[in-house]
Amino acid sequence: MLRAGGICELESGYGRRCSRAAEHGDHFYPWSKGGATSLRNFVAACAHCNGRKRARIPRPWMLTRLERRRASGTGMAVPVGERRRLRSA
Ligand SMILES: [Zn+2]
Repeated sequence: MLRAGGICELESGYGRRCSRAAEHGDHFYPWSKGGATSLRNFVAACAHCNGRKRARIPRPWMLTRLERRRASGTGMAVPVGERRRLRSA
């Protein structure tokens, strides 16, 4: 939340960052699809974007753009997205 400045990190169309207040910590890669519960995989999201995104796997361009925004906004290069390691049989 601090990293995101309290503002939703997701996009509200045409590549513009959503300007609503973030209310949720959302898994970038959904937990149900192997996403990790880690700072790296969390994005700050408003209720609207969080509800819209649901448990879909984000597209690669979403990841690239979010990483670029994080780096330019805060000066912190924070990679986006992390998946749990799958147990090898
Ligand atoms: Zn939003």
